[in-house]
Amino acid sequence: MDTRALTTVRISSFEKRRSVQRKLGGLKRGRRLLAKCSRRERNRARKHVIEIARVIGSLAEVNGFEGLRPRRMLRRSRARNRGITRADWRSIAGRVEGAVEVPPRHTSDACSRCGWENRDLRGSAVLRCERCGLTMDRQLNAAINLHLRMEGVPHRRERWDENVLPSLVGGHPLTGAERRGPDELARGLYDAVKPKLYAYDRHADAYLRAPT
Ligand SMILES: [Zn+2]
Repeated sequence: MDTRALTTVRISSFEKRRSVQRKLGGLKRGRRLLAKCSRRERNRARKHVIEIARVIGSLAEVNGFEGLRPRRMLRRSRARNRGITRADWRSIAGRVEGAVEVPPRHTSDACSRCGWENRDLRGSAVLRCERCGLTMDRQLNAAINLHLRMEGVPHRRERWDENVLPSLVGGHPLTGAERRGPDELARGLYDAVKPKLYAYDRHADAYLRAPT
């Protein structure tokens, strides 16, 4: 899901409220205006949340959501918190039919193929497994980890090679990824999910499949 439209609602309403607060903060009129802004923001955001949840729910029977770690909230930058908030994710997940919460442990630093944990991943965009040699886009590896955890299956190389690998080579019926070459791997998470990417279309006022 491309959730930038919801982020825009959050950011513009934050800015509007801040400017009202600066100009009329202590006044009665200011308080009324603030309440009106907040109401309008809540309604606009809710509309996006409902529509995003509806589209996600329509894509698969079961949808896994990475459980959120409350402690990390404080460490996140303010700019990020102003975007799509954790509260938004919670209400989106809460509205998706068949949503499953997946525990967030070692999502990005574990090799999805053999389970080896890279304790030194930090900001690196690629995971290189020192045990089995898997080299993969960090986000795509994390998504596979979440999927395996959601299914409740342990990391096993043979299973990965049998079930996961075919979905990454030259497209896959489940993701619908386009085939570039018979042996080409999806290079990243975006590549793997692109044919199913939905974004807000202003003219249709709805979330539609983004042109590929
Ligand atoms: Zn590995």
